[in-house]
Amino acid sequence: MPLDRSTVDELNARLKQVYGPQPLRPNGDPLAELVFTILSQATNDRNRDRAYAALRQAFPRWEDVMEAAPAAVAKVIAPAGLGPQKAPRIIEVLRRVAADPRAKGRPDLSFLRSMDDATALDYLTALPGVGPKTAACVLLFALGRAVFPVDTHIHRLARRLGLVPVSLDAGRTQREFAAVAPRNAEACHELHVNLIAHGRTVCHARRPGCAGCALADLCRWSGGRRGDAVKRRPNRAGRIRANKGLTRAGLR
Ligand code: SF4
Repeated sequence: MPLDRSTVDELNARLKQVYGPQPLRPNGDPLAELVFTILSQATNDRNRDRAYAALRQAFPRWEDVMEAAPAAVAKVIAPAGLGPQKAPRIIEVLRRVAADPRAKGRPDLSFLRSMDDATALDYLTALPGVGPKTAACVLLFALGRAVFPVDTHIHRLARRLGLVPVSLDAGRTQREFAAVAPRNAEACHELHVNLIAHGRTVCHARRPGCAGCALADLCRWSGGRRGDAVKRRPNRAGRIRANKGLTRAGLR
């Protein structure tokens, strides 16, 4: 299935039937969204939310976080996991933002509003530990821009559906989506949220529920082809190749 506008529209329509509309309500705070998304890396929503709430309670101002000892921040955000890595990253991000002349000495990302999407993405991804997905989340969820983040669920679905080659990493997959994603921020948000819902509830990493999947007839990974892939013997390179070059390990 080609990754083009009509495919994206079809996916959006089908997923909306299953998961419903997803109204976009931008929170208007790009710095909070940035920290929130850093906390979300490699953890689940519940633990991210607990860590974020604890951080804001222990350090009510971003200046307080910026000036805190990394160990103290790591302890507070422990529910999100990887505290010793995330704490210094968050502190360094806040310091870099505050050092930008446009921030006027404060940790404040309001100046992103005057940037176009590409410039804002470049700025954010130049910050330590901020990748394309995190940067796109800031623009979509905080500023309501029509920017499409590709997380681990969407990346897996895109490869299984055959929208992108199985070898394409998440960052390059996001760039492919950028060319065809809805230009309307509401639709962009809806597709993003509903693809993640589908990845979490049906198209699981280990055992995708293909039998009840609303996208099964569009998917190169569903049904018989998956069976064919299992029956084949490994080739010399030790890989199991399926029809159209699919590699099962590459889809997880
Ligand atoms: S048919 Fe299976 S592999 Fe394809 S999107 Fe649906 S659940 Fe995922």
